[in-house]
Amino acid sequence: MADVAADVIVVGAGVTGCAVAAALADGRRRILVLEARKGHKPRFAGEYIHPPGTQVLDNLGFLPALRARGGIDVDGFAVVKQQPLPPTLLPYREIPGGRPTGFAMEHRELVEGMRAEIVRRPGVELRLGHRVEEILRDGSGRACGVRTEHGPLRAPLVLGCDGRHSKVRPLLGLPEQARLVSFTVAVHLPEAAALLPHRGFGHIFLGAWGPILMYPVSARDVRGCFDVSADLSGGPAGAARHIRDDYAGYLPPPLRAALLAALERERPQIAANESIRTDRSVAPGAAIVGDAGGCSHPLTATGMTIGFLDAERLGRLLAPLPNLTDARAVDEALRRYEVERYRFVRAREILADALYEVFRAADPGTRAIRQGIFRYWQAGEGARARSMALLSGAESRLGVFLREYMSVVGRSAGSALLGVEDGLPRRLTVPERGAALLGLGRKVWEKSRLVLRDVRQEALR
Ligand SMILES: Cc1cc2nc3c(=O)[nH]c(=O)nc-3n(C[C@H](O)[C@H](O)[C@H](O)COP(=O)(O)OP(=O)(O)OC[C@H]3O[C@@H](n4cnc5c(N)ncnc54)[C@H](O)[C@@H]3O)c2cc1C
Repeated sequence: MADVAADVIVVGAGVTGCAVAAALADGRRRILVLEARKGHKPRFAGEYIHPPGTQVLDNLGFLPALRARGGIDVDGFAVVKQQPLPPTLLPYREIPGGRPTGFAMEHRELVEGMRAEIVRRPGVELRLGHRVEEILRDGSGRACGVRTEHGPLRAPLVLGCDGRHSKVRPLLGLPEQARLVSFTVAVHLPEAAALLPHRGFGHIFLGAWGPILMYPVSARDVRGCFDVSADLSGGPAGAARHIRDDYAGYLPPPLRAALLAALERERPQIAANESIRTDRSVAPGAAIVGDAGGCSHPLTATGMTIGFLDAERLGRLLAPLPNLTDARAVDEALRRYEVERYRFVRAREILADALYEVFRAADPGTRAIRQGIFRYWQAGEGARARSMALLSGAESRLGVFLREYMSVVGRSAGSALLGVEDGLPRRLTVPERGAALLGLGRKVWEKSRLVLRDVRQEALR
């Protein structure tokens, strides 16, 4: 190929594209990163990174520069069932053998910081304002480059890191199932880090229609994320009203005051929470990476950890190849990438759905599970550590998820039989206890079926 532009074309310079470029930049390869946007549109997206994702950022050498831009270590989660009850603490340091901290910073700063870093890596070139419109194919149908409005660019490997609404995914013929779950209304709370009941922890406040997540994005500032129904109307002004009227009351008074002041000053940002599932991530000469390969409701904050681990995996699997023109060797590495990524991702998807259901607690079964999960966490450090290992991605075996789910359901059944429920000053009536137990049975059946489906599918891959 006389007009080869690079060894690898990375489509998209979001967090995943930057991590991929860094993971592949070994001095031998020329890596061309194409980013559609010229600048960075202020758009709310992920900011909280679990320890396994943070470890990749560290391994790839990003952390010092990101810390210099204001990013900070975070210690885990504090879940507040109901005001004024004290939070249940779920610290990362309880996970045996794991990194004790995650990392958080404003999304825009994170992307800018990672872009500034990759252009210093050997062999990496970043072109802004280059939107990929087409995948080029050779005579055998193999991907061999891309076309942007500036013309064709050839490379033996194309990696689509172009986000959840990926253009590369359909161009490669990789199907998806997408569903809108809800919206996030995001508010920036300056100088509110000291108001969090447990400084350095991400806080989940329950009780409103959907969970409220609040975490530090720097040593001083906090981000508030409010999960609201998919039929939210009225744009940012309507969202601000909704948060003021229907969510602020579930926060401790100092945070509530900071939120109300922030809503007076600026309009919140709104982002769709989608669930996008894919079953295939590779095609000859190409792969999709990070959100392009699917995403879940952001409550579990695992999107970036998935993207970073994908990047590290690709770096490791492609490292032994002397060059990327050996099509058979490249495709074998990509096949391995696909197997390993879905082993990790499937548990994330099921957990995100299950946890979101439990934190919303919209029916008798999930309300009973919510009751059970707090009893489970109170049972001791081991139970909390197992939950946090699953949540953070330190553990990704589906069998372990199912075992944990059953342990929680066992405690939930106990609460349902006793007739105890969050926020209710009275005991459940006999028909209400029956509805809770029936709901629990339905949930166990539903989750077992999903786990079996995924275990079978991944075993056959
Ligand atoms: C409300 C919300 C909250 C979240 N919170 C968290 C959290 O706390 N923790 C967490 O880990 N994750 C979180 N996530 C998920 C996280 O934002 C994503 O996992 C992450 O941004 C994915 O990064 P990415 O680089 O794969 O995709 P993106 O961030 O979408 O980046 C894709 C890039 O590709 C570019 N691009 C798109 N099309 C083209 C094209 N045709 N040609 C060239 N370039 C193109 C885009 O401009 C963009 O720069 C959240 C998501 C949402 C919606």
